[in-house]
Amino acid sequence: MVGACRANAALATKAGRIAAMRSVATAVVVLSLAVSASAQDDAPRAAPAKKDGPWFGVALPPKAGAAPAVKVGPRPPRPTTADATGPEFAGALLKTDVETIVGFARAAGQRKEIGNGQMWGRISGFPSSSTTVEWAVDQFRKAGIADVKTQEITQDEKSSLWLPLSWKVTLLGDQAFGPGSNEVVLESALPVSPSVIQGGTMTATLVYVGAASPAVLQHIDVKGKIAVQLIVPQGHMLFERGAVDSRAEELLKRGAIGVFNLVRLPGNELSRDFSNCGNPCFNIGGRDGLFLESVLDRAAQAGAADKVRARIDLQAQTYRSLKAINGVGVIRGASDEVIVLNAHVDGWFDGAGDNGDGLAVLVALARHFAKPANKPQRTIAFVASAGHHTPGINGPRSFVAANPDLAKKAVMLVNIEHVAQRNFSPARTMSADGYREAVADSGEAPIAVGVTNNSPFLQELIDGGPARFGVNFISERSTFQSGETGGWAGLNVAKVSVMQAPPLYHTTGEVLDVISAPGLERIGRFLAFLVSAVDKAPRERINP
Ligand SMILES: [Zn+2]
Repeated sequence: MVGACRANAALATKAGRIAAMRSVATAVVVLSLAVSASAQDDAPRAAPAKKDGPWFGVALPPKAGAAPAVKVGPRPPRPTTADATGPEFAGALLKTDVETIVGFARAAGQRKEIGNGQMWGRISGFPSSSTTVEWAVDQFRKAGIADVKTQEITQDEKSSLWLPLSWKVTLLGDQAFGPGSNEVVLESALPVSPSVIQGGTMTATLVYVGAASPAVLQHIDVKGKIAVQLIVPQGHMLFERGAVDSRAEELLKRGAIGVFNLVRLPGNELSRDFSNCGNPCFNIGGRDGLFLESVLDRAAQAGAADKVRARIDLQAQTYRSLKAINGVGVIRGASDEVIVLNAHVDGWFDGAGDNGDGLAVLVALARHFAKPANKPQRTIAFVASAGHHTPGINGPRSFVAANPDLAKKAVMLVNIEHVAQRNFSPARTMSADGYREAVADSGEAPIAVGVTNNSPFLQELIDGGPARFGVNFISERSTFQSGETGGWAGLNVAKVSVMQAPPLYHTTGEVLDVISAPGLERIGRFLAFLVSAVDKAPRERINP
């Protein structure tokens, strides 16, 4: 699953990343099939409508942030197993760290780090990312690690980061939709890279194109209109990137002047994913999407389809020559061979799961191995890396370039990325406007674990994880890696990635509340076990 959260990664590598991801996609498909089966048992896919009233009587979508994306009920996640020792992995402590990390993103939104603050996150190239790295480095120091530093990274000259500064998508009212049909702002709309509107505003008629497959498009004239396409991600949006891109190409070829992606995910969230899907192209959250689909249906029935129009306002900016920092902590062992542990610090929106949880676990591992009782034989390098989401800033690659002595002595890399989000299933309940809700259960979302060199020694250690630590690893051994691992190409050693692919990824729904405290503890303890076992093993077993 290469490139998992590099939304803006170069197109040239996209096909390769998607191909390499298939092993994980398989596991997620199984989950999604179960999801669709239960989602079909009641309610048709349409917002409830009264006979008359504004907007054909279709219930209006909720305001942004009016309700959480998913329901987290009072039943907690199942506790950790008895194998748990060491207060540095206590779930409550790690969750407090995730809260701190989320706080860096929220503060950036409040101080309007980007434009008017509609877009926020820990964004490499901006203070929100560097502040997070400084915090991680401070935690390494407080853990008693003496060799701690930050290292500067300058964005590659050929690369740039596109960010929206302010925007608004407004459905225009028309008395043909019923008296009192005033304009409706789709608050979950989020522009997608590299959308630009000359003059900053445009108005056009909408046309629904469903899945935008060739069989559908042959019947639809999209010329001069904004095409509204439906996207049903299986797991996270990453898995739809290839399909969205190729459909967008076809829509543009047929003359569409913009694209709305109705992203059928839990809640009514802003989602930062997909690129080059039409200009301008916007992602629209689940409940806004249901409203829009229902209105387009009713308008078609009423012979008023050509009256459904939207106004789009957009200001965006392309950033170049950005600067960021990596955070590095090194525990020197008796041996100069090195185990490298990595978590990227950047994230879109609150980014509690991508990658607040991974960074919190990295810090917990630093606290663990800094204790004299746990002192490793080998050297361990902890890397809080920047640039996972910012093209041209590559934390791992910069680390390798800046620390050749450590890089050339590496025996293994572990990438810790999206590791403790709770698992969500469709709820029995529908929201007031007719959208299927999602609810947490007592476990965590499945975690894919890939080992690049398929070392039997490493795979066996991972196989034992679920029984011993209760981690929810998918049952398939694989060699998959995340985009983060691409930057580590300079290390010719076993690379291990642990990663979830849950539906809230890259959305505003990925908040602190969806992180499982016992889940943080489970994966933290498992990784401590893995690293300790590797520390004691001969190099040939790790890299046969
Ligand atoms: Zn990530």
